[in-house]
Parts: sequence; structure tokens; C-alpha cells
Amino acid sequence: MASLAFEPVPALEGRRRTPGLIVMKFGGTSVGDTEKLKRVAVRLVSAREAGAKVVAVLSAMGSTTDELIRLAHEVSPTPHPREYDMLVSTGERISNALCAMAIHDLGHEAVSFTGSQAGIVTDASHTKAKIVEVRAQRIHEALDANKIVLVAGFQGVSTSTHDVTTLGRGGSDTTAVALAAALGADVCEIFTDVEGVFTADPRLVPGALKLDAISYEEMLEMAASGAKVMMARSIEIARRYGVPLRVRSTFVDGDGTWIGEEDALVLEKAIVSGVTHDTSEAKVSIVGVPDRPGVAAQVFRELARAGVNIDMIVQNASQDGEAAISFTLPKTDVPTARPILDRVCGEIGARRWEPDEAIAKISLIGAGMKSHPGVAADMFDALAEAGINIEIISTSSIRVSCVIRRGRARRAGRARPVPAPLRRACRRPLSESASSARRARSAASRSSSCARGATSTCACSRPRAPPGSSSASGRSRRRRRRPSLPATSISSSSRSGRARRASSSRTPSPAARSRSTSRRPTASTRATRSSCRR
Ligand code: ADP
Ligand code: ASP
Ligand code: MG
Repeated sequence: MASLAFEPVPALEGRRRTPGLIVMKFGGTSVGDTEKLKRVAVRLVSAREAGAKVVAVLSAMGSTTDELIRLAHEVSPTPHPREYDMLVSTGERISNALCAMAIHDLGHEAVSFTGSQAGIVTDASHTKAKIVEVRAQRIHEALDANKIVLVAGFQGVSTSTHDVTTLGRGGSDTTAVALAAALGADVCEIFTDVEGVFTADPRLVPGALKLDAISYEEMLEMAASGAKVMMARSIEIARRYGVPLRVRSTFVDGDGTWIGEEDALVLEKAIVSGVTHDTSEAKVSIVGVPDRPGVAAQVFRELARAGVNIDMIVQNASQDGEAAISFTLPKTDVPTARPILDRVCGEIGARRWEPDEAIAKISLIGAGMKSHPGVAADMFDALAEAGINIEIISTSSIRVSCVIRRGRARRAGRARPVPAPLRRACRRPLSESASSARRARSAASRSSSCARGATSTCACSRPRAPPGSSSASGRSRRRRRRPSLPATSISSSSRSGRARRASSSRTPSPAARSRSTSRRPTASTRATRSSCRR
């Protein structure tokens, strides 16, 4: 089943450190028009003048990608995947080439590359390709020639077909992190339209709080369960190679949010670091499934072969020799799954299957859940009080997710008592090489004057007061023990579980090894423990 399969992270050819290198990624809103592009150019030049080597990854301008996708569907209801990638990859070429021109006009050397020219090698899965290798020779040569390098995000080239591929929506994050890993950058800075990673989407939940720091593990769970601010795949790569990440605003000066190894980041773990909600998935229910071995295997094997990305799976207890299986998948995968389910249901003798696109998944994420029982019960209480019915539940050791009706998602996101996150603090700089990280960060800070002319500083480079005295932590200590959940026959969230497996089953980088003081539990032990705790 693809959703449980081992997912390789990229092989990074000739990986070595490049002291003083920063990778700066700018999202679509940050390069929304030519004025904004020129401001990005100024920022890149300032970083260069401050002594950093600079690789920038720019997304397509504003809603260019949405517009290109709209055009594709205007021409064809099911656009040919190869041609779709040829089309949508052009947005990033435009923004990067324009920015390189603006940098030339500021008197600096710059060169823009397509994903292929930059050596981003992927598998052949059009529209959701995975980076399998980075061949960064051309980038190194350009950096050695003192150029600012711009790389078109979101795209690569397939090794087998030599065609242009794209990495899935939000894929420029993945380009930036893969480059930072391959080039051995001191830091990868993600510039976006919010001030960092918040406890919930700040556009939907006005009281959401910005986090100073968050672990890879928590960010991966948040991204995999719908927090759009970072693409989940980029966090897998950052974690595997120990790339220090900072999410910060392009428009407002501030420290942003650091993402790194839990041990290096936090003095105390938040019980709940974030709440996410995701309306991009559909639920499929197969009813009247004969209760015999091999049936679930057949359904999910066939879907996996077609590249359908399954997330949560629940099988109800069998009655009169029949069971029901429900699972969630991206809405965009429903057209692929449809003919497969029609055929497989006939073959296994299931009564029928039905899709349901009116669902939302709401999740609580927090590393402190590992040691604090009762979070799931609190979440279910809150949903019950808001009159919201839960259709599917799944958990990991640091996440509880519930599928609910889509129309109730906003209300659920604002439902009572998500404990405020514990205050968190950075204990030491994130980078393997603290001094070069500091150099790069101060270069980045000097380059980061916002529109008002203020200058940012790095939160992590100065010591902070320990967080233990916060009222939230007091609340957490008063938390009552609650009974665990009734067992569900099968419950899994394979997408984020897979992400953890991919990261944890690989040999950690030397840096990650030296930072990591204790072995993490395997996915399976975590799953068992989490169901016991809740
Ligand atoms: P970019 O174009 O810069 O890549 P995205 O739109 O992909 O930006 O991601 C930024 C958006 O992510 C924000 O505008 C915000 O609405 C959304 N978002 C969702 N969840 C969160 C969260 N927990 N913290 C911050 N932003 C979030
Ligand atoms: N332009 C692409 C998108 O809109 C990639 C990105 O912005 O990261 O999804
Ligand atoms: Mg994005």
C-alpha cells in the first residue's frame, strides 16, 4: 500500500557545508507584483552585501499558478499530466527571471535557473513528483562566481522521462529545503504573508498565537493535517538532514518561528502547539464488505498502485459477516479512485461505495501530549459542547484528528478549550555550525528590513527566560486524568505516520545524531502507546 510504503528522501550528491550560505524562499504573495519583486531583489542584494552567499527560491507571482490551473481545466476537464506540469511550472520561471533582472539593475550579478537547470531531479509522478536527488554543480559554480542564484520553485526534471515535473501545491517550500540540505546552508528562511507559524491559521482564528519555535515533528504533523504555511514534504527533508528553518513575514519585521530538532529547541513541550483544519480531503465509505482476510489489502493495494494517497482508515466491527470500511483521500485523487473502487467493490463482493466531499479534518498537535493524558477527551468534549458530531478519529503520539462535517469546521476551530501553548524558548542556535549560522543570520537580519525600514533580530541568538512559570503550564498540571477512548477496529493516519517513518527509519545525519540524546520510539510503538494514553 503506497500510503504505508517507505518514502525516500532525496539523495544529495556531494553534500557538503557551504559556510555563510542562506537559502531564502519567497511565497506567491511576497512576489505578487513587480514592485514586490523589486523589494525582494533589494533584500537579496542586502543579504549578499552583508557577506552571505545567497540562493533564493521564488514562487509564482500572486495567483499565477491558480490561473494556469484554471486555464488547463478550461481547455480539458482532465488535463494531461505531462502537459499540466509543462504549463504550471512556467509561473516560477517568470518570477525568478524578473527578480534576476531587478538584481542586475541594482549592480549585482544574478542568475535564474529552472528546476531542471538547478539539478532538481525527481521521480516521474507528474503533478506530485518527489525530489530524489539534487545535482547542485551549477549552483555551486554560480555561487563561486559571486552570483546571487535564483531557482524556480515547485519543479524538477524526471530522471526516467527527462520531462518537467511539479512537486504539488506549495512545492516551492520543498525546493528551498532540498537545496538548503544539498548545499549545506546555514539556514533556510521561508518568507511568507504571516509572521510565523501560529497555533491555528491566523486568518481563520483571530486569537491564534505565534510560536517562537516548533519541532520538526510537530510541524510535520501540522503540515500533514492541513496547516498550509509549510508543505509537509519539505519538513520531512529538513528533519532528515537537520536543516534549520525559519518561517517569517516578508512584510512585517519580526523573529518569526524557528523549526528544528525538539531537543535543540524547547525547554518545555507544549501540550497543544497547534490546531489545524483541512477541507481538502474526501471520505469514501465502502459498505457491505465481506468479512474475510485479504479484502482490505486488495482495496488499498489497488488504490496505492494508482498513486492514490490514503490518509485515515477506519473499519467498523463486523456484523452478520459484513463490515464497513471508511477512509479519507485528497479530493483531487477521487477521479483516479472512482473506476478502481467500482471494479474492486465488484470483485470483493462489497454492496456499494460512496464518496463524501463535505467533510473537514480538525487536528490538535503537540509534543506534550506524549506525557499528558486527556487531550483527546478534552477535544471530544469541546466538539460535543459545540454540537459537532465526530465521524472518524485517528491519533498519533502527538496528534488527535477528527473528521467532522465541513460546514462545522470553523466552529470547531474556535471551540472551547484548546489549552494555550506553553511558552517556548530556544536553548541554543539551531545550526550545526553556530558561528557560521550566526553570521548568516545576522546577514539575513540586516537584509530583512521591512517596508517600514525596521531591522529584525534573531530570537534564538540570545538566551531567554525559562518558560515554566506560564499560567498555561500551571493549567496543564491541574489537568485531570480521563478515561481512554473506546477502541476502533482499525484506525490509522497513514500520511503523517508515513512521514515519520520515512524520517525515523533513515540513518540520521551526523548533526542530527549529535543533537539527538534519546532514541525516538518507532511508529508502531508510538501508535500503540498513543492509543493506550488516550
Ligand atoms: P506562501 O505563498 O508564502 O507559500 P501560503 O499561502 O502557502 O504562503 O502559506 C501561508 C498561509 O498559511 C497563511 O496566509 C495562513 O493563512 C496559512 N496558515 C494555515 N495554518 C497556519 C498556521 N498554523 N500558522 C501560520 N499560517 C497558517
Ligand atoms: N506556485 C506553486 C503553488 O501555488 C508552488 C508554491 O507556491 O509553493 O502551489
Ligand atoms: Mg506555500
